[in-house]
This record gives sequence, structure tokens and C-alpha cells, in this order.
Amino acid sequence: MTVNRRNLLKGAASAAVAASAGFPLSSAAAAVRDGRPAYRRLAEAGLLDERIETIAAQYDECRLCPHECGVDRNGRDTGLCGASARVRVFSHTPHFGEEIPLVGRRGSGTIFFSHCNLRCVFCQNWPIAHAGRGRLISDRELADMMIDLQRRGCHNINLVTPTHVLPNIVRAVGLAMRRGLRLPLVYNTSGYERVEMIRLLDGIVDIYLPDLKFMDGAQSERFAMERAGDYPAMAQASILEMHRQVGNLVTDDRGIALRGLMIRHLVMPNRVAGTREFVAWVAENLPRDTYLNIMPQWRVEHRAFEYEDIARGLYVSEFLEAMDWAREAGLTHFDERALAAEEVYRRRLAS
Ligand code: SF4
Repeated sequence: MTVNRRNLLKGAASAAVAASAGFPLSSAAAAVRDGRPAYRRLAEAGLLDERIETIAAQYDECRLCPHECGVDRNGRDTGLCGASARVRVFSHTPHFGEEIPLVGRRGSGTIFFSHCNLRCVFCQNWPIAHAGRGRLISDRELADMMIDLQRRGCHNINLVTPTHVLPNIVRAVGLAMRRGLRLPLVYNTSGYERVEMIRLLDGIVDIYLPDLKFMDGAQSERFAMERAGDYPAMAQASILEMHRQVGNLVTDDRGIALRGLMIRHLVMPNRVAGTREFVAWVAENLPRDTYLNIMPQWRVEHRAFEYEDIARGLYVSEFLEAMDWAREAGLTHFDERALAAEEVYRRRLAS
């Protein structure tokens, strides 16, 4: 099912309920003028602790993501993601390979979480996401990592694959905030989210960085976990909610991201990712100047070589047709690296 604004009316009604329950519906412009990260404003309104408790309670019967395993993760049980209630982290470091508005001069403060609730067959981080490499740490140590990234000058805390460890993240943010954390949070997700959980992040996250990987459930079922046939509907609904909360990308006078939505879409061989449908959906449901990173960096990774239609590199023509489709759809705000790649490829084709 394609999700659009009309069939999200029900979701909007739930958001109104959330607002009446004390969850602020954010104004992006006011938030940016304010200059503080969202979670600090929520704390000052006296609402952060209650929200942390609500999110943390999810481990009792885990329905953090669309798999809705219903397991008690406080004990020995794990669900499809393979994660327990104790967070496992592979690394925390300033990262210079992310989108330029996140990287700035001093890097994006990435924290790579182990395990994943989507696990694509072509995952470029498979030792971390599939094999669960990493170290078990406490929420206090996670807070230490956030403070360390801030001390090293990073512009944000970039939570890579956060969905299945959200309770640990919000508890750590609460601890780190009391020790002076003031960087915006980047919610860097595969897009396989429950919109109900994204609503709970209203007033905590400033920058959403979701993928929209597939537009056809048959492809997500084939190339991600087999129970992820609802990926397109889940990701689309969540992205609309993310945009409702934070709006379009806003940067400071140095071009560094402060708040807003940035969408990633990896172009795949043989049009498997549904790129034409992706740009059409964005054009129909979001502002035309939504920040888009249409990515050419496809690689045959992990088990991708087992699938004939994706077991090859991306043709230059496949990336260029994606950029053409995006412009034909009226979209205007593209990632600088994608634009640079496009220019190089077009020159190469012309020579
Ligand atoms: S986060 Fe993990 S345990 Fe929870 S619903 Fe998703 S896959 Fe299942």
C-alpha cells in the first residue's frame, strides 16, 4: 500500500490526541530560532522524563518496530532484531562521510548500534547489523559516548540504526543532557519504523535521516527480512510523520544542519529500488524542496551476489535516469555529493 497524506488522516488524528496528552506539536521555525536541541526544550517543559519512561517501557513487550515481536527484552528473550535490553555499540566516532550539512568541519558524531530490524541482503554494514559485532555497554556509557563526541567538536549525535534500542538511547540522552549535552540528535534509520514510535520522538529528535529503500513490498520482502513486505507503507507513514514534526532541512549560516528531514534513497541495479515511484511519491506528498540524497554508491555486498538482478555494479545510465526522474517530478533540493557525481558521470558520457 502506498501511503499518502489522505490515508494518513487517521494518523494525524492520533497525533492530535498525542498533542492533547501533552506532546508538543513542534514548529520547526520556532525551534530553530530557539537555538536549543529539542530534548532540552521538552525537559524544560517538564515532559522529557515521562516520555523516556513511556519509551523505555517498550522493552516489557517489545513493539518498537513493525515486527511487533511482543517479547520481554528485559529477560533472556530477544526478538527478530536479535537485541536484548542492554545496548550493544560497534563504535562512536566523528564521521566525515555523511551528508555535508551533517559533517560540517568537525564531523558528524556517529554512534553505530549493533543489530538491525531490517537486515537487507546487500547491507554494507553487515558485520555490525547482521552479525551483531560490538560491545555491550550500559546506558551511562552510552551517555559518556555522546558527551565525548560533543567534546571532540562534532556538530550532532548521529544515531545509526537506532530503532531497536530506542529505550537505551532516550535514557542516555536524559543522562547526557544533565551533563551538558546540547547537540541535536540525528535519527539515522532504515525507515522500517512504526509511526506510533516516531510520534513519541516528537520533541526529542531534531534531524530525521530515513532511508526510503523500496517502493514495492515484494522487493523489500525479497531483499530485506522476509517479514518486511510492509516496508514501503511503514517507511512512508513514518517519513510523513517525521516531516510533520521537523519540517524541511534548516541549516545555520555555515550550512550545518540544525533541524529537518533528509531522505536517502540508494539507486539499485535493474530499477529494483523503485526510484521512479520514489521521486513521484516525494513530489506528491512532501514539499518539492525536501532534501534528497539519491545515492549512486551501490556495491555488491554481503549476499547480494546470490541475486542475479542485483549482482552487478550500477550503470552510470541508471544513476543519471534517477536524477532525471527527480527533476521531471519537480524536485529541487539534492545532496551536493549526488550532484557532483551526476556532473562527473554526465561529463564522462559526453567525452
Ligand atoms: S525491535 Fe526487535 S524485538 Fe522489538 S519488535 Fe522490533 S524486531 Fe522485535
